[in-house]
Amino acid sequence: MNERIYMSSPDVGELEEQAVLAAMRGGWIAPLGPDVDAFEAEMAARVGVKHAVALSSGTAALHLGLLTLGAKKGSVVVTSTMTFAATTNAIMYTGAEPYFIDCLPETGNMNPDLLRKGLTRLRAEHADIAAIVPVDLLGKAIDYTKILEIADEFDVPVLSDAAESLGATHEGKPAGSFGVASVFSFNGNKIMTTSGGGMLLTNNEEFAQNVRYLATQARQPVVHYEHQDVGFNYRLSNLLAALGRAQLSRLDDMIAKRREVRDAYKSLFDTVDGVEVFGSVDDGEDNVWLTAISVNEKVAGWAVSELSAALEKHNIESRPLWKPMHLQPIFSKYRGEISGASEDLFHTNLTLPSGSALTDSQRQFVIQVLAEFLESK
Ligand SMILES: *Cc1c(COP(=O)(O)O)cnc(C)c1O
Repeated sequence: MNERIYMSSPDVGELEEQAVLAAMRGGWIAPLGPDVDAFEAEMAARVGVKHAVALSSGTAALHLGLLTLGAKKGSVVVTSTMTFAATTNAIMYTGAEPYFIDCLPETGNMNPDLLRKGLTRLRAEHADIAAIVPVDLLGKAIDYTKILEIADEFDVPVLSDAAESLGATHEGKPAGSFGVASVFSFNGNKIMTTSGGGMLLTNNEEFAQNVRYLATQARQPVVHYEHQDVGFNYRLSNLLAALGRAQLSRLDDMIAKRREVRDAYKSLFDTVDGVEVFGSVDDGEDNVWLTAISVNEKVAGWAVSELSAALEKHNIESRPLWKPMHLQPIFSKYRGEISGASEDLFHTNLTLPSGSALTDSQRQFVIQVLAEFLESK
């Protein structure tokens, strides 16, 4: 049996090893240090925003971003239903109520018409709408032009969940540079990793200061540990920031590698009726974090579950897209504007091994198994 082939495993090597070792030998073990400062500066420069705060996870970044925007019990946060649970979990931590917006079938990203409908309804109820948190699904930036226009019209701030879209752009502008603030994740399966980590980016200095303050136990700037707020221990460690800096220097190469993987899937499925590479509306602006295929069972003559089982037999990981939040037992009682588009994607899509750490022979093996499956149908 071959070694298991994962969807997106960390892509780290000698450069990363040296960076972590250098940080360790430099003596900066205690959480903060020069690599944290440098990582923040390099990320801010890369994304083109003024301030960046390195945090222990993307979830922590969402949590503190929401608190800074005043999300609390009694307020509502409007968000994408097609996402990973972390987005909604962070809303729940604040006590606010999530309000789910369904997606566009082509991209899985927030449907602007449904956003407008939801905001209109909430306004009519005089709801306290703390924020809109849209998600850039699988590394495709949402249509920020439209979403921000609607947000402006209703005067609601946007906190962008760009956890999956570092390196992507919308109309040439980097993901993470839209809205009042944005959030990245450096979890092990993301486009680049610090093993675990996240970051909040913003052009608003006060916003960044507040997140920094909350992330370091809300310590007042005095020597005797004075506290006026409940704080958190959410900062990124210096050792992990060193790893992040090495990864950031390779980000474009890793994106190029993932694009090669997607292109290989594209050429395989190009001639297969009823199968499309999801997000093939990719105009070169996506970071192609994960590649999924959409299968029309009636046309193709097989269901994604059959393909998934065939891959599993060869020790190859594949998964459906995120199960939408409004279908999750824990969140199903919350309201939203639901069209069925995300549920449809959940049933008809399958995410394939997409990582930049895939070797050429692993990629060829996956393609071969897929080709054999198609042949057998
Ligand atoms: C990964 C992810 C997060 C959470 O990031 P962590 O660093 O794992 O906490 C949040 N939102 C989305 C859309 C994600 O994919």
